Amino acid sequence: MGVLAPIGMLAASGLMLADLRQDAWDKAEQTSKNLVQVLERDIARNIEMYDLSIQAAVENLRTTGLAEMAPAIRQLILFDRAATARDMGVMIVIDQHGDIIADIDAVPPRKGNYADREYFQVHKARAGLGLYIGRPIVSRLTGERMLPFSRRINKPDGTFGGVVLGSVKLSYFTRLFGEIDLGQDGAINLYLRDGTRVMRHPYAEADIGVNIAGTQTFQGFMRDASGSFVHISARDGIERHYTYTRVGGLPLILNVALSTRAIEAEWRVKALVIGGIVFVLCGLTIALSLLFGRELRRREAMQAELERLSLTDALTGLPNRRAFENAGAQAWEAARHSGRPLSLLIVDADHFKRFNDRYGHQVGDEVLRSLARCLSASVYRPQDLVSRVGGEEFSVLLPDTDQAGAHRVADKLHAEVSALTIASIGIGAGAVTVSIGLAAIVPTATEVAGLTDLYRLADEALYEAKAGGRNQTRHAKPHEPAVFPLKQVLRLMQ
Ligand code: GH3
Ligand code: MG
Ligand code: MG
Repeated sequence: MGVLAPIGMLAASGLMLADLRQDAWDKAEQTSKNLVQVLERDIARNIEMYDLSIQAAVENLRTTGLAEMAPAIRQLILFDRAATARDMGVMIVIDQHGDIIADIDAVPPRKGNYADREYFQVHKARAGLGLYIGRPIVSRLTGERMLPFSRRINKPDGTFGGVVLGSVKLSYFTRLFGEIDLGQDGAINLYLRDGTRVMRHPYAEADIGVNIAGTQTFQGFMRDASGSFVHISARDGIERHYTYTRVGGLPLILNVALSTRAIEAEWRVKALVIGGIVFVLCGLTIALSLLFGRELRRREAMQAELERLSLTDALTGLPNRRAFENAGAQAWEAARHSGRPLSLLIVDADHFKRFNDRYGHQVGDEVLRSLARCLSASVYRPQDLVSRVGGEEFSVLLPDTDQAGAHRVADKLHAEVSALTIASIGIGAGAVTVSIGLAAIVPTATEVAGLTDLYRLADEALYEAKAGGRNQTRHAKPHEPAVFPLKQVLRLMQ
């Protein structure tokens, strides 16, 4: 139980923590998705607005007589529908040679040649591109970083007539993304479809214009119109969860990237605290269980020892009177069932008081211990039980032994005792003697009702041995049954 309970506790808290982790991920994914959507809409709407301005300028270029008009009027007509927003960069019309012919901000237009610009070359080379979004550039007119949008001007015969260029300042994106907190190592990126990074938040100059087309991350963005995945960034080696989407119908890809560490940061603290508490509790439970188990085993051992002591005589180490009574009752029952004989010797030291008086109590004790050894040496079978039942009185219980057998044990006992010497105190052979009362019965064949009666018979025999001069064995007199047992009656009648 002490181990199972902690395992259960660990399993339950493990499940709970897994659930909390899933919650953290769900929340992060949902937040990223919402954020990507909102940003995408804002960007798409703004770019659409700039594009409409560019389209309007392209259309207005077809106004008849435009070339002959005064520059101020021409500018008014060309850019009549142009949006003027804070983040609008430049808006110029470039002729087929790359020279500015109209400028939303200046009459006459500022001077400049753009024939070398990428967007100019692209439109010149191909008609029908529609809106072209170029790589981020530094404006030659204002010196600011811009994202250029351009549309081709076709002459009436369809040949290249120049480009209308509008641009949005990168500061638009800086402002749009600026307030958003994405946690540690979080980022927002805007890419062109060719893999060029247009913008990154947090902003770092070096990130702008970098092409990541070859990376696996970018291939992930190209897989679908929108989606999400986890990948290790090629830029800084940080594992991030990317939520990406195309921006409107434009060749732009926007993504919100959250570091997986940041997603799990809050959860990790909880997991550490909860995990720590659970581990401590489990450890305590196991430790307490082990202590409890050890204490139980100690008590059990102590109880067994107490039980052993309660059945053992402290002086001689022999079983004591209680042990004798327990074993005697069992032996009696066994003999009654089997019909086998049961014998009992009661052995009492002769004139023991004299030893005490002469040599002192301690010597008396030593004699008793020696006597105990003699008694133990006189029996061989494991079921024979030698006990100390009184001060200088012992009993020898002999199951499955008849009178003759018991007598042999008594004789052996006398012989052992007569050979007993205790040199250290000058007790020689024959100095210690014992008297023995012997009772042997077959429980089924007599009226003897129990162990007490058997004991009484042996005790009476002992008394006779004492009276008869000591250092001898006397048998219990066969008792005349008060009522003839049925077996004997039947035997007499045969
Ligand atoms: P008898 O031959 O009639 O049995 O004489 P006895 O002296 O042995 O018998 P009695 O019953 O008069 O005296 C028993 C003595 O045994 C009394 C006591 O001093 C001694 N005794 C009993 N228990 C112990 C014991 O544990 N240690 C010692 N040293 N002596 C004991
Ligand atoms: Mg005695
Ligand atoms: Mg006695």
